[in-house]
Amino acid sequence: MSTSRREILPRARRVVVKIGTRLLCNKKGHLNLKRMENIVNDLAYLWQEDRELVLVSSGAIGAGMGRLGLTEVPQTLPEKQAAAAVGQGILMHLYESFFSPQGILVAQVLLTRDDIKIRERYLNARHTFQTLLRHRVIPIVNENDTIAVEEIRFGDNDTLAALVACLINADLLVFLTDLEGFYTADPHKDESGELIPEIAEITPEIENLAGGKGSAFATGGMETKIQAAKIAMGAGIPLVIGSGMHARVLARILAGEEVGTFFVPRADRLQARKRWIAFGSSVQGRVHVDLGAANALIKKGKSLLSRGITKVEASFEAGAVVSVINPGGKEIARGISNYSSEALNLIKGRGTWEIKAILGYKDYDEVIHRDNLTVITGCGATSKN
Ligand code: GLU
Repeated sequence: MSTSRREILPRARRVVVKIGTRLLCNKKGHLNLKRMENIVNDLAYLWQEDRELVLVSSGAIGAGMGRLGLTEVPQTLPEKQAAAAVGQGILMHLYESFFSPQGILVAQVLLTRDDIKIRERYLNARHTFQTLLRHRVIPIVNENDTIAVEEIRFGDNDTLAALVACLINADLLVFLTDLEGFYTADPHKDESGELIPEIAEITPEIENLAGGKGSAFATGGMETKIQAAKIAMGAGIPLVIGSGMHARVLARILAGEEVGTFFVPRADRLQARKRWIAFGSSVQGRVHVDLGAANALIKKGKSLLSRGITKVEASFEAGAVVSVINPGGKEIARGISNYSSEALNLIKGRGTWEIKAILGYKDYDEVIHRDNLTVITGCGATSKN
């Protein structure tokens, strides 16, 4: 039943599911409530299995168009924005009414590109998602279409969903669409089109197959899905494109069944990030640690705590990649610091329990979490850490 590469899917705990406009709305902008309810039931099942879920839902412009009585897809940006403003409320109201009887809380999260691009906003958004997930809430995400002008737009929810998956470090990304998966030719137009069950690499041929648009008011067709697949695969996040027309499709995907198209992640997620930390990032500061902390990092695979820090060099923001230096002056690790240099200077050498009293806040217990730390050995980074 399950193919070997899909064995990772049942273990996926944090899952981002994206639902396209074509699934939710017909051409006149009428929402398909039955389908919406089916998808909500499918999500509720995964939620009951204790998975953490984020839903990226399109359909705001479509739904708004229907409610405004527009017969044609709005062409100008202000018209689209107005339709989105009307439709987003309708969408949220419906999701609320479907999730609520299942005892599931939902939250609206509207993002623009700057929320991912600007480090401070990126970290804020990440904190918000983490907190919502901790409360077992399902965040429902869309682009903030109402204020998003060209320069700050994602433009399509496929890209948005892939970036959200990276932002929250998801274990799996699923695109639900009105097709069974990714085809060799658009099955709406060409009967010879065949479903591709697995894609391990986005080749120029795959990109060529993906040409064309989805529907009148959905922004993305397969083209944007393939671009999004590149982002996810590169970040080590598996992606499945499946059909949202069938009940229980999510449960089946998460069971590792061979439905839809599975995009094989290029590297193990953790290792991909660790490699980025070790080789792909630019080091913005140096954190000196005492012998106890150095040993805890290298020999025991622990996180770096404030107590073991003796000195901080350079000025950096929270989220910066820093070098960890042992008492002998040697770089032993690199990692993402949860605190700015300014904050570290105040909390170095102090216990974790003191952080809140000193800073007035404590976002994290660890200064560098183990998952965000790569030990550097004599000849480079080791993945066995
Ligand atoms: N954000 C748009 C909406 O909710 C959809 C974008 C897309 O279809 O990719 O209407």
